[in-house]
Amino acid sequence: MTSIPAQPAPNAVPASADIVIVGAGIQGCASAYYMARAGLKVVLIDKSRVAAQQSSRAWGFVRVQMRDPDEIPLMQACKEIWRGLEAELNTDLEWNPGGALYVTNRPATMAYREKWFQDTRDMGLDSKLLSPAETANLLPGHSGPILGGLFTASDGHAEPRKVAPAFAQRARDLGAVVLEGCGAVEIERAGGKVVGIVTEWGRIKTDKVMVSAGASSWRILKGLGIFLPQSHIRASVARTNILPHLTDAAFVGDNVAFRKRKDGSFNIASSLHGDVDLTLDHLRLTPWYWKPYLDSKKGIDLHIGAPMLRDFAQRMPWRDEAKFPAIHEREPQILPQQQRLKNAVSVLQRDFPGIGRVGIAEQWAGNIDSLPDGIPVLDAPSDHPGLLIATGFCGHGFALGPIVGRVMCDLATGKNSNLPLRAFRLSRYAEGDVKQPMSIW
Ligand SMILES: Cc1cc2nc3c(=O)[nH]c(=O)nc-3n(C[C@H](O)[C@H](O)[C@H](O)COP(=O)(O)OP(=O)(O)OC[C@H]3O[C@@H](n4cnc5c(N)ncnc54)[C@H](O)[C@@H]3O)c2cc1C
Repeated sequence: MTSIPAQPAPNAVPASADIVIVGAGIQGCASAYYMARAGLKVVLIDKSRVAAQQSSRAWGFVRVQMRDPDEIPLMQACKEIWRGLEAELNTDLEWNPGGALYVTNRPATMAYREKWFQDTRDMGLDSKLLSPAETANLLPGHSGPILGGLFTASDGHAEPRKVAPAFAQRARDLGAVVLEGCGAVEIERAGGKVVGIVTEWGRIKTDKVMVSAGASSWRILKGLGIFLPQSHIRASVARTNILPHLTDAAFVGDNVAFRKRKDGSFNIASSLHGDVDLTLDHLRLTPWYWKPYLDSKKGIDLHIGAPMLRDFAQRMPWRDEAKFPAIHEREPQILPQQQRLKNAVSVLQRDFPGIGRVGIAEQWAGNIDSLPDGIPVLDAPSDHPGLLIATGFCGHGFALGPIVGRVMCDLATGKNSNLPLRAFRLSRYAEGDVKQPMSIW
């Protein structure tokens, strides 16, 4: 199961901390930074390494465009942070403030975007619906029919492989302890309150634990008797060779999405498709997901086969995954859907005929952690004193990372956040207050 063996480093594990953060993706790393900056003694642990999962595999879009209205106040506040983030972290994050441009020739897609535009009209966004001519002006190399576009000039994109590590490094500089290859085994409670955490390397006494373990968060919460209907969807991405300039915007077309990286290569993906490799846990969550799957504006292909068999095997009591369910697979093998990426390349070449030869230099996939209402849990639930949760970002949490860090710092230090957080409370699932998602990935 492991590619990084858990090797206890002598004295690496502090005996106590003000807060232990489980999961060093962008949410855990940004939170560690802001909490360390606020003077907390922070320990950040990851069963694998910093940004091992989604946070290094994302496309890198930083957008308010087509975002769930509940997330818009957070994202607007977050964009302020993004603008100064390279200076704040003193690191090149490949931040490109080139906007987000979505283009379609499909009436239903255009109508969906127009509806979002109308719904968010009073929220102070700079998003604009574009006519075919206005869209073509922004995309001079594009050929083929266009029905219209949606453009948000204040959006942008950045390099995921750089952002979480930069937060982690600055957190370290401020005194946070970052332990890689150190999984959380169990959160300890006494009298209902968090009193510590058992890690693979030893116990840490603390009265606060934050769970930001991406698609594994539900496993850790389950150990506390908390049910979170979290699932995952596999999404594939490729990096191309260096290509001619098309646009600085993060681009979504009908069958291809891309953003230009700093070196001139593109991150490219099919804008419309993801994969669900069915396991028993997916089946268990069917009552929560059948409708979002059917309604999904993006296509989801269901696969049954090897992952289901592997899942069965991992449930055998002698397997590490069964003995340490919170850790489960340390580095899951997540294979890209190669044919889909080839199709995305073909669409790019067809829609931008001047682009020349497009080759795939690298390809990967990530498990997007989804929740049935398409928005995350950001909470310090009062019925679980000492527990903080930041998870379930449904394919758009890279962009939110910096503001999530600040919000979680406010929750950890008992400060009132001035942002509306009610929609992100954990209890909505127990209350049955679960809205239709805009997108679960
Ligand atoms: C292909 C792809 C494209 C995407 N594109 C975008 C995009 O363009 N824009 C955008 O905003 N978002 C995008 N996203 C979504 C975004 O990447 C995620 O929402 C975000 O990175 C989630 O961060 P996280 O910190 O919550 O989780 P993760 O980055 O998944 O980190 C969770 C960490 O927890 C660790 N962990 C798990 N269990 C344990 C344990 N028991 N003990 C210790 N550690 C543990 C894991 O090893 C992992 O490092 C994309 C995601 C994917 C996969």
